[in-house]
Amino acid sequence: MHRNHQKEKLFKPWCGLCGSTEKRLTKTECCQNWICDDAHTYQVFSYANNSCYRNHDCYTLCAAHYHEGHTGRWQDCQQCRDSFDVPYYTYCGTNKYNFDVLNNPEKYTISCTHCDFRSHSIEDFPYQTSKGYYCGKKKCQHAFARQ
Ligand SMILES: [Zn+2]
Ligand SMILES: [Zn+2]
Ligand SMILES: [Zn+2]
Ligand SMILES: [Zn+2]
Repeated sequence: MHRNHQKEKLFKPWCGLCGSTEKRLTKTECCQNWICDDAHTYQVFSYANNSCYRNHDCYTLCAAHYHEGHTGRWQDCQQCRDSFDVPYYTYCGTNKYNFDVLNNPEKYTISCTHCDFRSHSIEDFPYQTSKGYYCGKKKCQHAFARQ
């Protein structure tokens, strides 16, 4: 005799970025994924990068694409490509704030404007200006401040 083992599936959504089921969740406007509904907490505890919602909204192509009113998939969007330089475009398309990432991100190397430091990660450069990128070294930070 077979029993029916099918249990009622309780769907409990979790944040697609940090995996939390504890926080209040909402859906992103741009891609309809579950995400921590924590944008409002950002102001109160103003240390950086603590809001899943804000991170997705500010640092991804997905959100930029949506806010700019582009059409189609952001991964295929030429307008997005034209809007950012390669390092920033790649960063926004591959960082951990994305639910989906670019399939074949372009390889890039960034050189510090002020010293010979090079890196494949935009996150090694705290300052990005129209003149170029500045690395985290003291002397380069000072050079940035002086310009
Ligand atoms: Zn989260
Ligand atoms: Zn999105
Ligand atoms: Zn776009
Ligand atoms: Zn430097």
